[in-house]
Amino acid sequence: MAASSCQRPVSRFAPSPNGRLHLGHALSACLNFDRAKASDGRFLLRIEDIDQTRCTPALEQAIYDDLHWLGLSWEEPVRRQSEHFDAYHAALDSLIAQGLVYPSFMTRGAVKAWVKAWEAEHGKAWPCDPDGAPLYPPLDKARPDSERRTLIADGHRHAFRLDMEAASARLAVALTFTETGDGKTGVIVTDPARWGDAVLSRSDAPSSYHLSVVVDDAVQGVTHVVRGLDLFAATDLHRLLQFLLGLPEPLYHHHRLILGADGRKLSKSEGSTALGLLREEGASPSDIRALIGC
Ligand code: GLU
Repeated sequence: MAASSCQRPVSRFAPSPNGRLHLGHALSACLNFDRAKASDGRFLLRIEDIDQTRCTPALEQAIYDDLHWLGLSWEEPVRRQSEHFDAYHAALDSLIAQGLVYPSFMTRGAVKAWVKAWEAEHGKAWPCDPDGAPLYPPLDKARPDSERRTLIADGHRHAFRLDMEAASARLAVALTFTETGDGKTGVIVTDPARWGDAVLSRSDAPSSYHLSVVVDDAVQGVTHVVRGLDLFAATDLHRLLQFLLGLPEPLYHHHRLILGADGRKLSKSEGSTALGLLREEGASPSDIRALIGC
């Protein structure tokens, strides 16, 4: 069900503290903040620090400093994903109980080798997901339960994946979402199957981005998801997870991306557009607003 129109709007900015914020983050944060202000809405900040190997407290502090410097403020307490692993486990358990999840054992290298062999045999390309990663091969899904239990008992590292075929079979009609952003707008018909058997949790990360983001948006009562166009395709998977978990459907607005000098999407390793560096070089918050056109 779509968010009710009489509810106070709730928007959120959800960075990962695995690098310094850049101009693209500034655009996302300012759009969310401005939208909340203009509509008497609430503005929340969420720290997406599931990947504990790459996220650090210093980078988290830098996010607060950069956002405060930009003139943004948010409701406390901030939700930090690393403090809510139990919520993601519960969501995973619900999908397992619905028979929609299986353990997968192939490493990235094993997938690559399998795809190479498949392509050589069939003379055509194995399909990739919208992020360009090969769809997960069907081997593990076909394993009998007894074999899965033995592999796990023997200590084989495994991830849990969504059985996309079984999950899609639950849909009587295609899921949609309402989009008001800078790309396609209107009622968008989703095609989650293009993500294949997406990862929901790994042995080294208790939840995937996709699972935690839908859980958190629901827990935090987010009514408007405003984020970059690079996450537009992921919304198909998010809608499917929301449906399977009985979570509400927010409205979506995927905004234009700020591109680097080479015309590519900014990355966190790209120092020249880091807010901290621009600030040290003498830029003011209004200079940043002018640079991002917001
Ligand atoms: N944590 C994601 C990022 O830093 C944003 C997730 C979202 O807005 O849904 O790109």
